[in-house]
Amino acid sequence: MTSTTAREQYEAFKARGLRLNMQRGQPSDADFDLSNGLLTALGEHDYLTDSGSDIRNYPGGVHGLPEARALFADYLDVKAENVIVWNNASLELQAFVLTTALLHGLRGSTGPWVTQKPQMIVTTPGYDRHFLLLETLGFELLTVDMQPDGPDLDAVERLAAGSDRVKGILFVPTYSNPGGETISAEKAARLAGLSAAAPDFTIFADDAYRAHHLSDDRDAPVNFIQLARDAGHPDRALVFASTSKVTFAGAGLGFMASSEDHIQYLSTYLNAMSIGPNKAEQWRHVRFLRAYPGGLDGLMRDHARLIAPKFQAVYDVLSEDLGTDGRYATWTAPRGGYFISLDTALPVADRVVKLAQEAGVSLTPAGATYPAGRDPHNRNIRLAPTRPEVEDVRTAMRVVAACIRLASEEYAAQP
Ligand code: PMP
Repeated sequence: MTSTTAREQYEAFKARGLRLNMQRGQPSDADFDLSNGLLTALGEHDYLTDSGSDIRNYPGGVHGLPEARALFADYLDVKAENVIVWNNASLELQAFVLTTALLHGLRGSTGPWVTQKPQMIVTTPGYDRHFLLLETLGFELLTVDMQPDGPDLDAVERLAAGSDRVKGILFVPTYSNPGGETISAEKAARLAGLSAAAPDFTIFADDAYRAHHLSDDRDAPVNFIQLARDAGHPDRALVFASTSKVTFAGAGLGFMASSEDHIQYLSTYLNAMSIGPNKAEQWRHVRFLRAYPGGLDGLMRDHARLIAPKFQAVYDVLSEDLGTDGRYATWTAPRGGYFISLDTALPVADRVVKLAQEAGVSLTPAGATYPAGRDPHNRNIRLAPTRPEVEDVRTAMRVVAACIRLASEEYAAQP
């Protein structure tokens, strides 16, 4: 028997015919509006860059415009020589590097990874598209827990030392997806210096949320390029990021950093694939971000003003409706990023997501935060509060809380 209140409350929400989406990490229209200046950043005669490159024609090479490299080198805290600025998606760059590794190896490899039954370490809960990409390319995934200060490094060290099939780790170092954890300086240094059985063990750091602080109380992003160099493994780290959650989602710029040698190595393969990236997009990003009050940091502060109240709405409703004693659920409270990770106390995540769907609130599918879409504990749910208005986040979370209570009571009432 479930209590009438949990069931009745849920049915009352259901009767409202809501249509709310807390599923994907997308910016809101108000976030996009901050970057509308991109659409007019270039006039009819703005086709020559500072360095005299004509954005209308091919020449320029595969590394990206010097002005764009300088801008995003600054963003990643490296030198321009360490950066390739490419097209609209960092995931595409990750796919490019992983594919190159499979076909040719990376610098320091003894051969193509594809013949070595490659394994990759990932953190859980984690980002479904990392799992999809790696699984699609044929990697075997090895999971380690994401802890409040980054990946479980004891487990990573054990796995990396144990087999030369373990080719690296792909994870989000700053404000991770979904829990918002940031790797500590100590763990980052350990990772950069660990002894691996594979000579080409590689850190794939998807730093998608490096600048996405919610307030002045900020986590400190690490610099894997410098740490790897200091540890005597200069080619070990590859860092990826994009402006997808800075300017326009999927219509911004993706970029990556590594040692100069590794950037040169990878650019050989990029050069075979393409004469170069979209220079017009790069130039208008440079022009727009230079002109924005306070530059890129000013833009991120404006995003924070829009996004922070939505995170707060999630915490307020969850603690009001579920309490903070962990009886029903626990959740992360990150200082930045795009997501909150919630764990139900009982194994009811799939039931919660289904109940919420039936009441008009779509959540990230249960299991999505684990490889193959299977959460072994059936407890994790990723909450993405950035897209809806604050009031809608509040309403959606009331529904989610009611679903968690109902699902927990149903579970407890099972014979
Ligand atoms: N990495 C992470 C960790 C993300 O959360 C996202 C967006 N949800 C992406 C990459 C996608 O980035 P892009 O648009 O640059 O491919």
